[in-house]
Amino acid sequence: MQRISHWVNNKVVAGTSGNTGKVYNPATGEQQSEVDLASIAEVDAVIAAAKKAGLEWRSSNLSRRAEIMFRFRELVVANKNELANVLSLEHGKVPSDAMGEISRGIENVEFACGIPALLKGGYSEQASTGVDVYSIRQPLGVVAGITPFNFPAMVPMWMFANAIMCGNTFVLKPSEKDPSAPMFIAELLRQAGLPDGVFNVVHGDKIAVDRILSHPDIASVSFVGSTPIAKYVYETGTKNGKRVQALGGAKNHMLVLPDADLDMAADAAVSAAFGSAGERCMAISVVLAVDTIADELVEKLKTRVPKIKVGPGTDPTAEMGPLITREHRDKVASYITNANGEGANVVIDGTDKAKDAGFFLNPSLIDKVKPGMKCYDEEIFGPVLTVMRVKSYQEGLDTINSNQFGNGTAIFTRDGGVARQFQFDVQVGMVGINVPIPVPVSYYSFGGWKASLFGDQHMYGPEGINFFTRGKVVTSRWPDPRTSKIDLGFPSAR
Ligand code: NAD
Repeated sequence: MQRISHWVNNKVVAGTSGNTGKVYNPATGEQQSEVDLASIAEVDAVIAAAKKAGLEWRSSNLSRRAEIMFRFRELVVANKNELANVLSLEHGKVPSDAMGEISRGIENVEFACGIPALLKGGYSEQASTGVDVYSIRQPLGVVAGITPFNFPAMVPMWMFANAIMCGNTFVLKPSEKDPSAPMFIAELLRQAGLPDGVFNVVHGDKIAVDRILSHPDIASVSFVGSTPIAKYVYETGTKNGKRVQALGGAKNHMLVLPDADLDMAADAAVSAAFGSAGERCMAISVVLAVDTIADELVEKLKTRVPKIKVGPGTDPTAEMGPLITREHRDKVASYITNANGEGANVVIDGTDKAKDAGFFLNPSLIDKVKPGMKCYDEEIFGPVLTVMRVKSYQEGLDTINSNQFGNGTAIFTRDGGVARQFQFDVQVGMVGINVPIPVPVSYYSFGGWKASLFGDQHMYGPEGINFFTRGKVVTSRWPDPRTSKIDLGFPSAR
């Protein structure tokens, strides 16, 4: 059986803890490898390697860092088919989805290549007589990333590209469910010329996460995953004096107004709900349909959903792959099975497919959901689109704003005035206007509101640079020593 081990100082390092996790091919349901899970001592060794590398790396000049990042970008592009294959084998993504993930990851690397221009500070000449004041941004030190299973390549790229370019060294603790993509990326970073110890991967479970959260040499933690763990990581990390950004789960609503083009809205809802089998934090999981068009919209969804081609990532024509694990597949199926009993109307039941050996479900459609039902209140994270009927724009808006999550949302309308009002009123971090998955481009920043984000800095883009650096302000003068005298007054401009 293939074994996946840690990556330290640009080499694969076998685990010694004796603990391993099982990695499956979700399309066949078979275990295909095992991953080493680190002990506390192993995590300490990885952090020590990153700390040692940091002494030199933070002194490296910006051109050299950018040169390495440019080379890494070229290597990802050259190897994207192979990387997509790695994603398919462990995550189950179909080819178009895997390629999309890589492209969005590359965007972040491209942004990072331009960081030298964004690390410029400010300079005020003659702030006082003969006194200049200027600001600089410096790296934090050893920074950590803890990532989820659903974007094993892109989410690490959200973090490490900016972190490294800002002069930090990086320790990644990826999801133990699909740990190979980060190893593939680590090898490309080595080939790009990244010095030993600047980017490291430690595989592990709660033991590794807890050690990262308490280790005195970890300066910051970037986390992406489910809300309960995000909250835990934020609370524990900040209690231990670390800077933390922790992105959590989601329940993304798409409000469809009566003036919208309903075919376009139906296409968008189906694409955004079932892409990546719904295992995206920006997936649309609830369509809010205004009563007057609800029947017609549900009809349009009903004709589209069964046409989605479900299959393994090895099938180039497949549009939707399996779920990540058997347990997760069964949990998602339970929301569908229980929905009728809660008073909703299961229009299309995809649970038949759960009999397959792989962790598949067919896409499902549930109409007439309401708050208080499990399939509405909880994040399903699977191929299930629900429809809630609302009387008006206002009821739709209120529904979104009373939800515990605030990651993404979308409005479909032809009325620019209402769309602008929505953008003004809605309490969600990322908003789409006739765009169902409004993941910001890499030169903006990604982050939700409410239970979708703990901490105040969003991920990547300008906020990523803020997160991975600390400001310093220097006040300087070069006086003639002959003018020197003692003055106990508080310094002020003169
Ligand atoms: P998860 O919370 O189970 O795991 C995320 C990371 O935390 C993994 O590295 C995992 O090993 C670790 N972890 C798991 N349990 C832990 C524990 N008890 N203590 C310490 N660490 C623990 O999430 P997942 O299932 O891998 O990913 C899916 C979730 O991630 C969904 O809720 C999804 O919405 C969310 N997500 C959010 C975003 C976003 O940007 N907001 C992006 C992608 C995924």
